[in-house]
Amino acid sequence: MLRTHTCGELRAEHVGQRVTLAGWVNRRRDHGGLIFVDVRDRYGLSQVVFDPAAAPAATLTAHELGAEWVVAVDGRVRPRPEGQANPDMPTGEVEVLAEEVRVLNPARTTPFEIAREVEVDEVNRLRYRYLYLRRPRLQRLLWLRHRATAFVRAYLNRHDFIEVETPILTKSTPEGARDFLVPSRLQPGLFYALPQSPQQLKQLLMVAGFDRYYQIARCFRDEDPRADRELEFTQLDVEMSFVVEEDVMALHEALLIELAAAVAPAFHLRQVPFPRLSYAEAMERYGSDKPDLRFGLELVDIAPDVAGSDFHLFADTVARGERVKAVAVPAVFTRKEIDTLERLARELGAAGLAWLAFAEGAVRGSVAKFLAESEIAAVRERTGAAEGTTLLIVAGPDDLVGKVLGRLRTEVAQQLGLIPPDELAFAWVVDPPLFEWNVEEGRWDAVHHLFTAPQVADLDRLDREPGTVRARAYDVVCNGYELGGGSIRIHDRAVQERVFRLLNLPEEQAREQFGHMLAAFEYGAPPHGGIALGFDRVVAVLAGETNIREVIAFPKALSGVDPTFGAPSPVPPENLALLGVSVTEPGE
Ligand code: ASP
Repeated sequence: MLRTHTCGELRAEHVGQRVTLAGWVNRRRDHGGLIFVDVRDRYGLSQVVFDPAAAPAATLTAHELGAEWVVAVDGRVRPRPEGQANPDMPTGEVEVLAEEVRVLNPARTTPFEIAREVEVDEVNRLRYRYLYLRRPRLQRLLWLRHRATAFVRAYLNRHDFIEVETPILTKSTPEGARDFLVPSRLQPGLFYALPQSPQQLKQLLMVAGFDRYYQIARCFRDEDPRADRELEFTQLDVEMSFVVEEDVMALHEALLIELAAAVAPAFHLRQVPFPRLSYAEAMERYGSDKPDLRFGLELVDIAPDVAGSDFHLFADTVARGERVKAVAVPAVFTRKEIDTLERLARELGAAGLAWLAFAEGAVRGSVAKFLAESEIAAVRERTGAAEGTTLLIVAGPDDLVGKVLGRLRTEVAQQLGLIPPDELAFAWVVDPPLFEWNVEEGRWDAVHHLFTAPQVADLDRLDREPGTVRARAYDVVCNGYELGGGSIRIHDRAVQERVFRLLNLPEEQAREQFGHMLAAFEYGAPPHGGIALGFDRVVAVLAGETNIREVIAFPKALSGVDPTFGAPSPVPPENLALLGVSVTEPGE
C-alpha cells in the first residue's frame, strides 16, 4: 500500500509513530508560516501540519496544494497542542507533523465543493457523479446500502434460501408498465424485453423445486421517473413454495425489524408486530393504500350528520351515494393558509374545500352558517374536535374524497411538525381487490399482476362480480411509502385461464404470451407465493432520505437521461441496419 494508515484511523495511541497517509486534500489553511492540510479518504479526515522550520521543502510543496489534489504524506503523529483537540473529529486528538509530501495527482477546480455540503443542482450531481459520491454523506449512504444488502443476503441464506440470477434479456414480464425493448441481431426484427421483475422466472424456479429463492434483482420499467421511482431499480425478490400469506409476511416482518436495527439504529419502530390494515380500511381511514402511520389525522365519515341538512351541497352528495368526510386538524389556520390548502384540494380535483374551526368558544368556517347548530354539534362529537381544532371537509365521489383528504392529511402533518422524524411506522396492507376497472380501456386490469391468486372465499364471484374479488396479496408500507408487495400465486391452470379470460386475454394471445407458464403449471407446480421489496426505497427510508437517487450510485435524471455517460445516445445507421431497425424520429 502507498499508505501505512487510513485517514480515519489515527488516535492518541499512535503518538510518536511515523506514518504515511494518502488521500484527497479536503482543505488547506495557512496560519502565519504553518500550513494545515486536512487529508480525506473513505475512512475519515486527518490533520497534517507543515512547519517550515521542521520541513522546509515539504512546506513549499504544501503551499501549492489545492482542494481535491491526491497526496501522500509522511510524518510523525503528535498530540494536538493544548486546547486545540477537536472532539467532533474521531482523529481530533492528534495531528501529523509532515516530513515529506508527494503529489500523486493534482486536480482541476471541482464544479462544486466536496468538503462542504452545499446544495448541488441535479444536473451537476449526476454529470459529476464521481465527485458527488466523494462527499462523506454520499459515502455513508452507499455504505449503509452495502450493509443492508449484506444483511439481507446473510439473513436469507440463514433461512435456507438460494440466490439465483435470472436473465436480463428476456420476454415481456408484465407488471403493468411499459417494457424496455432490445433488438436482436441474431434474429433481426425481433426484440427482447428487459424484465419488469423476475416474476415468471421465480415462479418457474418454484416449479423446478427450488423452494426458497431470492435475488437482488434489477428491474426495468419504462415509466415516468419520480423522486421515488427510477427507470431501472433494484428489488429484493423472494419466492417460496408450500406457503400461505402468513409465512411470507412473518419472514419479511422479522427481516425488516432486524434490518432496521442493524443499519438504522437511530430509528425506532412505532409498532411491533406491524399493524395490519385491509386495503379497504386503509383507503377509508387514510385515503391511501400506503398510509403514513406516524401520525393520526384519520378521515372521518360525517355523512350521517349532514345527510338531512338544509345545506344541499352535502345532503345531495350523500343522496347520490357519494361521500362527505372530514379530517380534524389540531390547529387553527389563517385565511391564507386555508386558501393554500383549498388550492391544493382543487388541484387534486376537488370542487372545493369546506372547513369548520372551533376556537375561543365559537365556530367559524366556510360552512358554519349553512349547517344547523345541531349538525355542527354532531359533526364535532363524531370527529372529537376539541377547542383549537379545524375540520377540513371534502365532498364528492369516494376515491376523489379519499385522494384529496389523504394528501391534505400529510400536507398539514408536515406543516405542523406532527411527524416524528425518528420513527419507522411499518404496516401491512392486505386483501386488496384482484382487479380494477380500467375506465379508458373499458376492461379489467390486474391490480397486482395476473398470476396473483383470488381469495378462496371470493372465488364464486370471479366471473359474476370481478370487482368484489379480493386478492391473496399483501403490501408492506412504511412512513407513506410502499416498500414492497407480493402475493400467493395461482398454481392451478384452470383458475389461471379464468383470470386470463377476465382480463380479456383471448386464449390465443395468452398462449402466445404465457404459454411457457401455462405449460409449466401442468408439470406439478407447488403452491407458492412471494414478495418483492423495492430495495432502493427500503434503503432510502432507513437512511431518512426522500429521494431514492441519493442511495443509488449512478441514477438517471428525472428526464430518464444518464448525464455522466450521456445515455441514451444515437447509434450509427450501420448498427441499426444490422438489427433490422430503422429510426423514424432521430434524437439529438
Ligand atoms: N413481482 C412483483 C412486483 O414486482 C412482486 C411479487 O409479487 O413478488 O411487484
